[in-house]
Amino acid sequence: MSLGDFKLRGFLTLKPDAPGESTEAALSYRRLWTYSVVLTALVSLGPLIFMTVINFFQYQRALTAEMENPTTLLLSNNKRSLEFFIAERLSALRLVVRTRTSEQLCDQDNLQRVFRNVNDSFSGFVDLGLITQDGIQCAYVGPYELRGRSYQQADWFHEVTTRGEYVSDVFMGYRDVPHFVIAVRHEDASGKPIVLRATVGADLLAQYAISLDLKPTSDAFIVNARGILQTPSRSHGEFLKKAAIAVPPYRSESQVVDQVDADGRHYMLGYAYIDRSPFVLMVVKRPEDLLSKWLALRGDLLGFLVSSVVLILIVILWSSTAMVNRLKEADKKRAQILHNIEYTSKMASIGRLAAGVAHEINNPLAIINEKAGLLTDLVDLSEEFPRRKEVLEIVRSIEKSVERCSTITHRLLGFAKRMDLRTESIRLEDLLKEVLGFLGKEANYRNITVEFHVQDNVPALDSDRGQLQQVFLNIINNAFAAVSDGGRVDLFVERAGDNEVAVKIQDNGHGISKENLKHIFEPFFTTKKEYGTGLGLSITYGIVEKLGGRIEVDSELGTGTTFTVTLPVPSTKF
Ligand code: ADP
Repeated sequence: MSLGDFKLRGFLTLKPDAPGESTEAALSYRRLWTYSVVLTALVSLGPLIFMTVINFFQYQRALTAEMENPTTLLLSNNKRSLEFFIAERLSALRLVVRTRTSEQLCDQDNLQRVFRNVNDSFSGFVDLGLITQDGIQCAYVGPYELRGRSYQQADWFHEVTTRGEYVSDVFMGYRDVPHFVIAVRHEDASGKPIVLRATVGADLLAQYAISLDLKPTSDAFIVNARGILQTPSRSHGEFLKKAAIAVPPYRSESQVVDQVDADGRHYMLGYAYIDRSPFVLMVVKRPEDLLSKWLALRGDLLGFLVSSVVLILIVILWSSTAMVNRLKEADKKRAQILHNIEYTSKMASIGRLAAGVAHEINNPLAIINEKAGLLTDLVDLSEEFPRRKEVLEIVRSIEKSVERCSTITHRLLGFAKRMDLRTESIRLEDLLKEVLGFLGKEANYRNITVEFHVQDNVPALDSDRGQLQQVFLNIINNAFAAVSDGGRVDLFVERAGDNEVAVKIQDNGHGISKENLKHIFEPFFTTKKEYGTGLGLSITYGIVEKLGGRIEVDSELGTGTTFTVTLPVPSTKF
């Protein structure tokens, strides 16, 4: 069924030329729907998305802080401890130098005692040596034989003499044990400049890195300013080799920064420059540790947002569609009601006019008829009436025309008459057979097949027999007129919706054009030029309405027409 058919059928179901939905109206409903969807979506989704974005960033900031703060704190504590460790040992050496003369310290036994005392108070010293102003080590206590060695040309000796103190990088000594050197230059108790040099085990340094309390995927280590690893590292290179990570620029405070590696993955880098030493304490935390919490939360937030948006959109679409459909239905009903009122009042005025005209015409018609009868009698009685035959023929044609006029006026009067309904129980099948009894002769004569299709258990209805006879007589009459000789008319009697029965009269006649279909229920609309009155269907329409039913028509030019009369049946009969 095409859209055109649908409109036409729906349209005729309402009333003849009832208003359909114009393109403009369809557009305005669509516009209303769009406005409703867009506005509701904006008002409901806008704040939701806004709040979720704000939450997103707040959570991100809070979680980043939560992740960074403990690392910063731990790093600062370890920086302080390591600085204290170095400062403590430098101070110990400085105290020794200040409180003794170079002669005392150049004495091997004396230095041995000093070494024992210092090591008792501050752990980690491996050896101790005193170097005089000219760079010669005059006394040495430790595992090597370094007494008398000259450091005149050594870089560290120059640095300590100019800067006053020195802390070396970690290196492997002769015993293949990592350690580093600390040295101080000072005037001794007698005012002579001397340098006290000690070696400290590097294992103590490593403890400061290890104590950063790490997860397996993280790493903590110490490098020097050139990036050489001063302690072992889990995943950033070999001990005493260049670390696989750049050393960030100097900052006096501990720092935690977000970095991106070569694979584009984020990681957190914490570092702290250790004062008075070449050391930089570094900690690397991988996103798996840091972001697992955040990723889970972000997934929850996104899931919540997406499911809320989908749910809200479904509700908006559903409610907007329902609202616009309701509005459309209400508008349609209103238009139908208005149209019905208009149509009924039109029919009432036509009825009144027709009744007046019929009444006025009836009397002159009766006179013409009477006079024509008199004229016939006169002609018959006069023996020698000139041209008797022609006159009698003329009079007969007058009488025929009068008869036709009186049929029309009677129908007109019937159209306008107020009906008093006399209800009785009627079986539709029987009623249709009675009607066919009037038309049986024509069907036989023109070889028209009439077939009944009656559904089982169709209840009888309470209605006016005479009026219903007229309804079906008009429709079947039209069907006979539409089919050619040898045509076919099918009559269906079946249950319709709740408490209704329907009679369908289907013919395979010439059908009705779309244009004519709009007018067939109007009084005086006929395509049967000489013998049609155009009143049959309008009267039929009025009767069906009065009986509480409705009439619908479906027709296709060249194929046939189906009239459906639906009538109410009291619920007790079902
Ligand atoms: P009339 O039969 O006097 O013309 P009606 O009101 O009964 O008046 O019918 C109006 C018009 O509707 C008919 O002239 C005809 O064109 C059309 N019509 C009605 N029924 C049929 C039908 N079954 N098949 C084709 N045309 C029909």
